[in-house]
Amino acid sequence: MRSPARTAWLAFPFACALLCASAVGAPKNVIIMFADGAAPTQWELARYASRVLRNQPFVVTDRVFRDGVLGLLSTHPAAVFVTDSAAGASAMSTGHKAQNGAISVTPDGARPRTVMEAAKQSGRRVGLVTTAQIWDASPAAFSVHAGSRREAQSIVDQYLALEPEVLLGGGRDFFLPKSAGGRRTDDKDVLAAFSAKGYAVLREPRQLRESRAAKLVGLFSDHALGLEIDRDPAREPTVADMTRAALDALARNAGADADKGFVLFVETENTDDAGHRNDIAALVRALWAFDEAVAAALEFQANNPDTLVIVAADHETGGLSATSARGETGGNTFPVIVGPKEFEKIMRIDASLDAVAAKLGARPSPEQLDALIAKHFPGFTLDADLREALLLQRPLERNFAISPQTVLSRMVSRQTGFYWGTTGHTAEPVAIGALGPDAQLFRGYADNTEFGRRLLQLIDGR
Ligand SMILES: [Zn+2]
Repeated sequence: MRSPARTAWLAFPFACALLCASAVGAPKNVIIMFADGAAPTQWELARYASRVLRNQPFVVTDRVFRDGVLGLLSTHPAAVFVTDSAAGASAMSTGHKAQNGAISVTPDGARPRTVMEAAKQSGRRVGLVTTAQIWDASPAAFSVHAGSRREAQSIVDQYLALEPEVLLGGGRDFFLPKSAGGRRTDDKDVLAAFSAKGYAVLREPRQLRESRAAKLVGLFSDHALGLEIDRDPAREPTVADMTRAALDALARNAGADADKGFVLFVETENTDDAGHRNDIAALVRALWAFDEAVAAALEFQANNPDTLVIVAADHETGGLSATSARGETGGNTFPVIVGPKEFEKIMRIDASLDAVAAKLGARPSPEQLDALIAKHFPGFTLDADLREALLLQRPLERNFAISPQTVLSRMVSRQTGFYWGTTGHTAEPVAIGALGPDAQLFRGYADNTEFGRRLLQLIDGR
């Protein structure tokens, strides 16, 4: 029989997480939603944009952070202050600091247990979803071990041994031998090996929608999946599409372990990619797309209240700030304060800076440059210094050397007030939101290793 508290929770699925925790006990299912490179600045940007541009709540802030338990994590790795994704995810998965580049291997060479290894030990099913290569740093560090994030082939081999029931993303290259168009240095066809173990092997979004299999390997690109702003729906699914498919597969009755639940890791890498390119238009789309995936997780939770949903990130990327500044056009200066008009202006940009850079090519003519700016950046004008930099292929200062993307980005900054401090990562603490049973474990200010220890604790059922 249901307790009154549990009935109330069912009736109000987004109500206080403490109530959920006391009502349903330790979670059976855990969904970790990871926006690589997103810190409070990024969440606030997406929340405000969602309100002023589409009059819609932003689920991460308005449901998970508001109704759930909020925490803040220090992100530094072993030895230095600024982390990469490998060390960040290693700490959050194992509870131990790693050096930048390492995949759940400590500086002294130890290989502490990962979240997904613990999940398997507890009898749970396991899923990994990312817009990056599936063997990329974050999903890898949540699952397996490697001295370096570059050991893609070893990471894929360890996936085959660990057997996560769901693998969805990009990075088909290290699943296939060179003879089949892949990049493996041996002759192994890992997709065939997964297929022999009973996995459905998918390549297209259509197959993802139609699949009824309980075990899935869906790799939709040889490389990482693209940015949401450029996405071709016939070729690549959204992160929400992949999340729904993963939840369907993981919840499907599949033998004796079915009732022990699952642990699903879902990542958007788009947010980190957009940050590295200082691409504000791509970033907002990426955050909104991620938000749809979080909404899908909450929908699952509403039907399965013994599910904990955690929204997390590993670090901030880009040193983004929405500012009040002074713009200048033709020698005249004017105030630029980010507001609804500036958001409208960035939403008129209809391609990523990477896509525009590819169209510009190595030696754009002035006419070609003007045509591309008019087409993809309506309402923007290129200042003389930036125009010259683009035509002469001269990068901005050293820390913004990704050219021409960061030159185009500077045009957008000057005319909208969204400024970037770097094309790298920063040490800004990341926000953690948890909603559901045991959410209170993630309350308050903590080190990223503490996040890992708490996650392992609840997966172990202690
Ligand atoms: Zn990054």
